Amino acid sequence: MANKKITKSEKYKKVMSPITFVYSFRLLMPLEMIKILTEPLIGIPEAFYKGKKVLVIGGGNSGFEEGLFLTKFADQVDIVEFLPEVKASQILQESVSRNEKMTVTVNHAVKEFIGENTLETILVENRSTGEVEEWDYDGVFVFIGLTPNSDLVKDMVEVNDYGFIETDKTLMTSQNGIFASGDIRADSTKQAAAAAGEGVTVAMMIRQYLKEVG
Ligand SMILES: Cc1cc2nc3c(=O)[nH]c(=O)nc-3n(C[C@H](O)[C@H](O)[C@H](O)COP(=O)(O)OP(=O)(O)OC[C@H]3O[C@@H](n4cnc5c(N)ncnc54)[C@H](O)[C@@H]3O)c2cc1C
Repeated sequence: MANKKITKSEKYKKVMSPITFVYSFRLLMPLEMIKILTEPLIGIPEAFYKGKKVLVIGGGNSGFEEGLFLTKFADQVDIVEFLPEVKASQILQESVSRNEKMTVTVNHAVKEFIGENTLETILVENRSTGEVEEWDYDGVFVFIGLTPNSDLVKDMVEVNDYGFIETDKTLMTSQNGIFASGDIRADSTKQAAAAAGEGVTVAMMIRQYLKEVG
């Protein structure tokens, strides 16, 4: 990567502001930027990224899997992870390390996307040195997890470190009579079919619970 180093004191136009979705990207960015970044995904990746250089943000299984997929189209696919180590499985790590189109950079945090109508550059902080670098890519794919909208209940029921609701095997939360199902639940597979199935399970469990409590 031919990336330029810049100092934190240099002024850049801010293009990010807080925004919240039910399952929001953990990275905060304005709607316009999300549109710029995701619009190409709605079409065929090949049409937009053939022969291009793209950045995948997030060194988990999703980032690694999707990064490998993107090498079918893009010439260069780099993964950046803000922790000192990636979290992807060993098998995926090995596949990526064997892929000549891919690199992995750890301990670097993406701070800002800069651009008017299209992505121009990305500000990335080297967390070891504190220096902010300017990385140039044709496209960015974000796989940094989701934030559940559990604020409403987080003081009533047990949630994990990320805010997902803990349940037992009947999908009851730590609070008697309160159940959770779908993506908001810790350990959910975050898939539509699973969420629908859990909805059915919860309905049956509530019926059972109501019978028991009279
Ligand atoms: C980009 C993307 C692609 C995906 N692709 C797939 C795929 O290909 N296959 C697949 O199986 N799954 C896919 N998923 C996952 C799938 O969408 C989810 O697993 C599924 O929608 C979860 O259903 P849910 O009912 O738990 O949550 P949601 O679908 O998120 O529904 C939650 C609902 O609760 C509402 N809500 C939130 N807070 C409140 C409140 N306080 N009061 C009232 N209502 C509230 C929200 O508005 C929302 O309508 C994808 C997800 C995303 C984001």
